[in-house]
Amino acid sequence: MTGQIEFDWQLSGSGWATCRIADASAEAKYVVSYCTDALTDLLNGLEGMYRLDPVQRFSFDLEPVEIRWVLRGVATGVGVSIYRFPDMSASFAAPDTDGTLSWRSTQPRSTLVHAVIEAAQEVLQEHGEAGYEARWIRFPFPVAALQNLRRLHLLDDECGQPHDPSTP
Ligand SMILES: [Zn+2]
Repeated sequence: MTGQIEFDWQLSGSGWATCRIADASAEAKYVVSYCTDALTDLLNGLEGMYRLDPVQRFSFDLEPVEIRWVLRGVATGVGVSIYRFPDMSASFAAPDTDGTLSWRSTQPRSTLVHAVIEAAQEVLQEHGEAGYEARWIRFPFPVAALQNLRRLHLLDDECGQPHDPSTP
């Protein structure tokens, strides 16, 4: 299975980031608030895809909309389902099926993780750790989570795409 994924993370304002994910058929874009440590949660969620029987859930807070990611390890890679709930304070404990499916794709783990690592590295290169924290405010740049995910990706994924050996 050949994957096609585009992922982008932009610090778009004080305490806000714009997250864009797209495959060959559909695109989703979310303006995410710093109420949760969103980029760290995403990196850690993907890290969970290297364990046995992986299922990971985490949510972005769009104030008040909840964007809930559900990652599932499947035979062909990782199934990503993103659900939308109108009010995070009300839906925190709600089952996925109560939400509206916002975006869904199944991608090879290598393709998905590579795209997210690249995007996170670009954020770090553009802003640096100090610049990131100045913009994201509540949480520092997830250096350890990125290093950990990158290590697993390079070790287990047989990624054929180029990697910059100098970062992070
Ligand atoms: Zn790679």
